[in-house]
Amino acid sequence: MQENKIALVTGASRGIGAAIAKTLARDGFDIWLNYRSNDEQANKVKAEIESLGAVCLLLKFDVANYAETEKALSPLLEKQTPFAVINNAGFRRDTLLVWMKQEEWKDVISVTLDGYFNVTKTVLPFMLRNRQGRIINIASAAAHHGAPGQGNYSAAKAGLVGATRSLAFEVAKRNVLVNAVSPGYIETEMLEGLPMEQIVKNIPLGKAGKPEDIAEITAFLASEKAGYITGQVFQVNGGIF
Ligand code: NDP
Repeated sequence: MQENKIALVTGASRGIGAAIAKTLARDGFDIWLNYRSNDEQANKVKAEIESLGAVCLLLKFDVANYAETEKALSPLLEKQTPFAVINNAGFRRDTLLVWMKQEEWKDVISVTLDGYFNVTKTVLPFMLRNRQGRIINIASAAAHHGAPGQGNYSAAKAGLVGATRSLAFEVAKRNVLVNAVSPGYIETEMLEGLPMEQIVKNIPLGKAGKPEDIAEITAFLASEKAGYITGQVFQVNGGIF
């Protein structure tokens, strides 16, 4: 029996990451599901994935920590290589730069950019050896247009877009394809505290998106159908940008 391909999804205990993991499971992937703290939620997502007939391995580690990332992934990589890595873990600490603490700057940059580096660097040699793979980075509309109070977040996500384009050049010859998806406002816990009533007035489609809107394009980019797409950034934002 042919084994399922594996997708490693970071930050998948809830929100967009959980939707991506479930959609990839629907499409026939087994899932390595990373999260940082929420065991209960992670187990719930695992059960949903298993009900779709896929295998789901929970991997609790902080993507911003290189040693933890390597310790969690290396023993697995000796036996199996994920076909797709979805760098989705991220978080916000919004405040105007004039008030921003160094820690708020560093933490947001670190989860997004160190997280991308740590996970990708650990898996990439195995993908290159297999001469196949997909890396999909979840950026943000904030990377492209900026946003007041999000200097740290916009910088991190713009950095991720640059990293996506550079890596795409480096690994194309080995058939490893690297793309980014840039969500606009998507209904998850990340939107808590934002004035959404006001914000939706400026979204041409008149509403926030659903995690599934991001999951579907990510699943497409991880599929055989997307074999000639690399180095691209896909905006999914209801028309705001
Ligand atoms: P949520 O806050 O709903 O979920 C974040 C997930 O990331 C959780 O599973 C959390 O795990 C995990 N996580 C956070 N930090 C780490 C870490 N250091 N290591 C491992 N896992 C971590 O976020 P969303 O689903 O809304 O966002 C997902 C991605 O999409 C992020 O990169 C975000 O920046 C991006 N995005 C979201 C938008 C939105 O409107 N929602 C808009 C644009 C981009 P746990 O809970 O277990 O700690």
